[in-house]
Amino acid sequence: MRYKFMNRSIFNILSIQEFLAVKNDIKPVMRGGGIRKEHAEIIRQELKKEKMRVLVKTLDIPRLVDKNQFFHEKHIMLYISKSMELARQAYKAEKEGDQISFGRLLGYPECCVDFYQHKIPNPVDDEFSFVLNTLSNTNGKPSFYTNNIFNFQTRAPTKHRLDIFNNFSSLLGERTKHFLVSHIPCSYRCKESIRIGREILKLIKNEDQQFARDIVSDIRKTFLVMDDFNFISFDGKVDGNSICYRTAEPLLTLYPSDKFIQGNKVIVGSNEIKIFNDGDLLHKIRKSVENARVLDFS
Ligand SMILES: [Zn+2]
Repeated sequence: MRYKFMNRSIFNILSIQEFLAVKNDIKPVMRGGGIRKEHAEIIRQELKKEKMRVLVKTLDIPRLVDKNQFFHEKHIMLYISKSMELARQAYKAEKEGDQISFGRLLGYPECCVDFYQHKIPNPVDDEFSFVLNTLSNTNGKPSFYTNNIFNFQTRAPTKHRLDIFNNFSSLLGERTKHFLVSHIPCSYRCKESIRIGREILKLIKNEDQQFARDIVSDIRKTFLVMDDFNFISFDGKVDGNSICYRTAEPLLTLYPSDKFIQGNKVIVGSNEIKIFNDGDLLHKIRKSVENARVLDFS
């Protein structure tokens, strides 16, 4: 582990993936949000040893409560880069809502920034699912390098979703760190996102082999996705709309978890989800399954 000498607890606050990307010139700037004041100074001191500069700013983050009302919350934000000038530009772009420049400075692929800017119908709607929207724009087999399903913080534009995010991120714990790309990909086959994911995995492998293995084993799976905060992961094989599986992990689901655990096959229909064990029907779910989709990163 190259960064053993550093105070590694800073990576409980900052994404190590993003840190390595900036350190190795894959991305110009990284951003850390919702940082406590006392942590900001520790991070600044630690990253100074790595010749990285940290710009500490307080930003007012508005989140939609309903169509006309905003919930405002002040957050301490860190903009981290090898260049203070680039860190300043990122802060300015975020403050002014210049998503194109902000995305470019954070090293997000242009196609993904463009997709997020122009092709998403209504991302502030509580019903909207970023994951299912990216899946709709995916033709062919999804690549696990682009799997950002555990990276919830990119999907909380409303107050309601922020509350779910806070709740679920404490439930999932370490798992919320299991991703390679930190942006919302335009497609789960986005070439540029796959390239970034590959490079980041290489860097993590050099740094911490066990962490790299943990990430891959969690994201290279088959998922049944109902929405951004409601999904199940499977170790198994997909055939059209059915999943034959050895194990199911109902990570975050409103559906009866024990049925998925007892079963070994799921068939996802347009009106119902059926769970089987060795051919015997165990359970049927009828309510609100119209959005359920199989997302196969295995
Ligand atoms: Zn893209």
